[in-house]
Amino acid sequence: MNVDLTPEQDQLRDAVRALGRKYGHGYFVEKAKTGGHTTELWNEAGRLGYLGVNIPGEYGGGGGGITELAIVCEELAAAGCPLLLLVVSPAIAATVINRHGTEEQRKRFLPGFADGSLKVVFAITEPEAGSNFHRLGTVARRDGDDWLLSGRKCYISGVDEAQYVLVVARTEDAATGKLKPALFVVPTDAPGLTRSKLDMEILSPENQFLLYLDEVRLPADALVGESLDAGLPALFAGLNPERITVAAMGAGTGRYAIERASEYTATRKVWGGRSIGSHQGVAHPLAHAAVQVELARLMIHKAAVLYDAGRDLEAGVAGNMAKYASGEAAALAVDTAVQALGGAGMTTEYGVATLLGAVRAGRIAPVSREMILNFVAQHVLGQDKSY
Ligand SMILES: Cc1cc2nc3c(=O)[nH]c(=O)nc-3n(C[C@H](O)[C@H](O)[C@H](O)COP(=O)(O)OP(=O)(O)OC[C@H]3O[C@@H](n4cnc5c(N)ncnc54)[C@H](O)[C@@H]3O)c2cc1C
Repeated sequence: MNVDLTPEQDQLRDAVRALGRKYGHGYFVEKAKTGGHTTELWNEAGRLGYLGVNIPGEYGGGGGGITELAIVCEELAAAGCPLLLLVVSPAIAATVINRHGTEEQRKRFLPGFADGSLKVVFAITEPEAGSNFHRLGTVARRDGDDWLLSGRKCYISGVDEAQYVLVVARTEDAATGKLKPALFVVPTDAPGLTRSKLDMEILSPENQFLLYLDEVRLPADALVGESLDAGLPALFAGLNPERITVAAMGAGTGRYAIERASEYTATRKVWGGRSIGSHQGVAHPLAHAAVQVELARLMIHKAAVLYDAGRDLEAGVAGNMAKYASGEAAALAVDTAVQALGGAGMTTEYGVATLLGAVRAGRIAPVSREMILNFVAQHVLGQDKSY
């Protein structure tokens, strides 16, 4: 594996870093506290082509891969702007449509992903099913050529900002009579689709929602892919990009926190002439967190390179490990940064405690640390399932 980025990837990293710093964490926090969205940042990133780096060139995108999208996610987060919508829209939804949509769906949706004008969020989680997607209760049934969708989804991010939500439902297989997963592109203003905003203890301009689908009528071409057989592979297609980009976002957040804390501890003096960073009790936890973040970044790069090389199974293992490592490292880095700043760490002004909720959530969503450990135990260590 080559650990160096290509010159183009290096340029992308520098350019996204500059854009992120132009907005910065103050902008992110202000939007979160006033109930706004990071629309200006999103639109500018879209205009500059950063949101469509992984969309094929023939549909107006950058023609790159998840490596490039992970760079965008990491650098914006490293500037204090961790955007979850990057994970759900260009990473999950665009990949699913690109890989498993019909040509008509690719032509219809991919150009909007490429320039960022289209946001499609992703709805799989349900109140009763939780981590067990085999229990999904959202059902799609045929009514003539149309589909009728009914069910409930929870914690769905960004519905208020998106034009569509990619809903994971179940349909009856005519051959076996069994229910199998299928994905539907549902307009967020479709009759029968209602939402209520959840009160979350996360300081973020991106919101989570409960979704209620009550006989939502959809045309035949709302089903992703040519047939119901596309459902399961389409669902799995989104998983690796999701794990890799959310991990990149976590690593960027960790870098941001460590940078803030290091600047502070290098200059803060409360015992005469020495900085508090000269005390190993302050510096070592920061150095330890920096090591964890850097290890996570290495695994993210490995997972992205494997994914872009089409080595999906290996990318699955590396992507899950990267997501686990990054989730833990980001939480450690932010908590350590808060501690190193003392009282200043808890202020809004210094901009680190503002990320505590987000990094805590990163150990639960989009896949919890326990479900990743289950995956590793079963697929790497050959252990039996307990469930
Ligand atoms: C900020 C945020 C944004 C989100 N955005 C989205 C979104 O856009 N779209 C979407 O579909 N979902 C979204 N989610 C939902 C998220 O994916 C789920 O919360 C997550 O998958 C866990 O499901 P659950 O909350 O139902 O937990 P549960 O499944 O109820 O699990 C509760 C706890 O038990 C543990 N657990 C469960 N089963 C096992 C097991 N077999 N072995 C060991 N431990 C186990 C879990 O790890 C967890 O710690 C979001 C969640 C958050 C917090």
